[in-house]
Amino acid sequence: MFTTTEIKKLKEILSHPKKISIVSHRNPDGDAMGSSLGLLHFLQQLNHEVTFVSPNDFPDFLAWLPNAKNTVIFEKEEEKAKDILNSSELIFTLDFNALHRTGHQMGAYLETLTLPMVLIDHHELPDDYPAFTFSDTNYGSTCQMVYDFINALGYNHLIDKDVATCIYTGILTDSGGFRFPKTTPATHRCVAELIERGVNNSEVYNLLYDNSTYNRLQLLGRALQNLKVLPQYNASYITLSQKELDSFNYQKGDTEGIVNYGLTIKGIHLTAIFIENKEEGIVKISFRSQGSFDVNQFARNHFNGGGHINAAGGKSFSNLEETVNQFIAILAKEKA
Ligand code: 5GP
Ligand code: MN
Repeated sequence: MFTTTEIKKLKEILSHPKKISIVSHRNPDGDAMGSSLGLLHFLQQLNHEVTFVSPNDFPDFLAWLPNAKNTVIFEKEEEKAKDILNSSELIFTLDFNALHRTGHQMGAYLETLTLPMVLIDHHELPDDYPAFTFSDTNYGSTCQMVYDFINALGYNHLIDKDVATCIYTGILTDSGGFRFPKTTPATHRCVAELIERGVNNSEVYNLLYDNSTYNRLQLLGRALQNLKVLPQYNASYITLSQKELDSFNYQKGDTEGIVNYGLTIKGIHLTAIFIENKEEGIVKISFRSQGSFDVNQFARNHFNGGGHINAAGGKSFSNLEETVNQFIAILAKEKA
């Protein structure tokens, strides 16, 4: 948590109406969107003028979140987004540890700003750009950190149905449905209170997970067919080429969660999914592990990425086949 002095200062800053922006990482997920929109709705109740600026578009399965429609997309409306950010008195940066996680376009712009920033995040190794930092890797989600922050400010009574629904969403998605190891008694106590505040937990689950298209399920089928096992390294991986994505009319968000299937095989402790993105000229990679294999370090060391010990991501500028070969070569080397 922020120190008592920092909480006092932040409470003082937030006691007068201000222009505030909230930003999160590129390709926002449930935790990025949930924490940003939950905080937005909370700050609006304190009469601030608040805007959520997302680097790029959010997936359709998160579009139902309260206030999602008012999100300003930096890469679509750059001038407008810059005006909003530049005229803010305070910027909250949520669910990331370094400004470049907003992408090079938005990241470079944020670097030029001198106004105070507040970081709330659960990734490893936070940068030192913020005036106020709440970074704690023991949390399973940034949403649960926002919940604790609101409570630390003494505004528990402002957690209404909208705030609670946003926060619940990020806790649910980042904990893989309350199953990842950072799900604690405190997480469940928090979630219990959120449901008391009006979250329709069953409906949220449906909205998030029971809205696949037929094409998405076919894409999942292809991904599972592409799954390869490397028993000698207790590892597995999935590939999806641009051609395959196109053939199933890929929409943003369609590959969300597919990586986790690779870990469900008995004896597999490390898995990856390699997704070709011809438009950006990269292969986007997600890593997942069980136990002590640190995919944050692995992604940092080899694939221009980072994240958490058991869930991380990165990218490669080689083609799909070369990237997979590099991955296997690294495993062989690290085992030797
Ligand atoms: P996912 O694989 O679901 O995209 O991401 C898993 C975790 O790793 C998330 O916490 C995400 O923020 C982080 N992550 C994903 N891609 C990158 C990346 O390219 N760089 C860094 N530093 N973190 C990433
Ligand atoms: Mn998160």
